[in-house]
Amino acid sequence: MRTVDEHQRVIAGLITPRDPVVMPLADALGLALAADVVAPLALPGFDNSAMDGFAVYADDIAGAGAEHPVVLPVADDIPAGRTDTGALKPGTAQRIMTGAPLPAGATAVVPVEATDADFAKPSPTVAIRTAARAGQHVRRAGEDVAAGTTVLRAGQVLTPAALGLAAALGLGELTVLPRQRVLVMSTGSELVAPGTALLPGQIYESNAVMLAAAVRDAGGEVVACPMVGDDVDAFRDALSSYTTAADLIITTGGVSAGAYEVVKDALSGEVEFVKVAMQPGMPQGSGTVAGTPIVTLPGNPVSSLVSFEVFVRAPLRAAMGLVGDRPRRTVTLTDDLTSPKGKRQFRRGMLAGETVTSFGPPASHHLRWLASSNCLLDIDEDVEQIAAGSAVRVWDLSAG
Ligand code: AMP
Ligand code: MG
Repeated sequence: MRTVDEHQRVIAGLITPRDPVVMPLADALGLALAADVVAPLALPGFDNSAMDGFAVYADDIAGAGAEHPVVLPVADDIPAGRTDTGALKPGTAQRIMTGAPLPAGATAVVPVEATDADFAKPSPTVAIRTAARAGQHVRRAGEDVAAGTTVLRAGQVLTPAALGLAAALGLGELTVLPRQRVLVMSTGSELVAPGTALLPGQIYESNAVMLAAAVRDAGGEVVACPMVGDDVDAFRDALSSYTTAADLIITTGGVSAGAYEVVKDALSGEVEFVKVAMQPGMPQGSGTVAGTPIVTLPGNPVSSLVSFEVFVRAPLRAAMGLVGDRPRRTVTLTDDLTSPKGKRQFRRGMLAGETVTSFGPPASHHLRWLASSNCLLDIDEDVEQIAAGSAVRVWDLSAG
């Protein structure tokens, strides 16, 4: 049997990044930059006011105080967005709003609160009650970013703030590593789509929606989620209609030891089917179909999602330049557990601070428990018993 680590390496070798693409900012959140971003202009782009108030020469109001205000004529009015501001004449003030361009010559802004002005009623003069230091309440051109500065680095994951900075620099697009496009295929003649009436012996298909959500949660894009019965020709037909659109194909079901194992029967030439020493998720496979990597996961719902977590999520994210692994921690187990000898066991658990409690039985059809757990307990192959109070490794599913 192959070890979990060995199979992880095989899958990691299969999934490769796409070529970088230029993408509009609105689509780039959460993607990794593929090139440094160099500021094409300065921020602020021009000297402007940090306050609503009056642009002045600081020297003109050097003697101002509460008891002896300096009265200046108000020569102009500059709202934000004005593009034709004139110079400030010595001995005058101009009314100015936050973000409006400072008139040439002005050396300071006096906030409205330090004057007798009532902004609701413009007045031809203003009485200023405090002196100002040169540069007061002025935002200087380039004090945030000088043109030509590298402001974002290749590899950096785009956050809302990073996108805001790009937009402030006038950039409408960025060069990023694009999302991996993933085809999620479910197999099984017993499966019917939710919303349809069940005949005896049929079950609702649940892996597709679950794995598609896991792909999106990992930052990937879902090409389609076709569902096919256990029919080799139908399976191959469905597969061939999507292979060119996908960077990765994930199938579920049809890989264990029974008869009617459609994935095994259809892909014996292209996929290496192996047993991995783990529980759940022993039957696994990987290969390429028409040049597209394929990972064949077992059909049991818990096995398929745990297998995605263990084998697919990290390399899928790495191929998009994103941090791959879920955070792993060693915490204290609160209950006694048994684990099959020779298999690495991934139990569902509830992580609370520095302790973890196992959650639900180990078998691979108990989806209910996985749905409300927040971690996987990762128990080594050689462990058969693990007592409450022991240290145990967990994968934190709520992060990463
Ligand atoms: P298989 O690996 O195809 O033998 O499937 C193992 C178990 O998982 C069987 O009980 C299947 O009915 C179930 N199963 C397989 N695929 C799905 C699916 N897409 N949704 C829900 N259950 C599934
Ligand atoms: Mg099946």
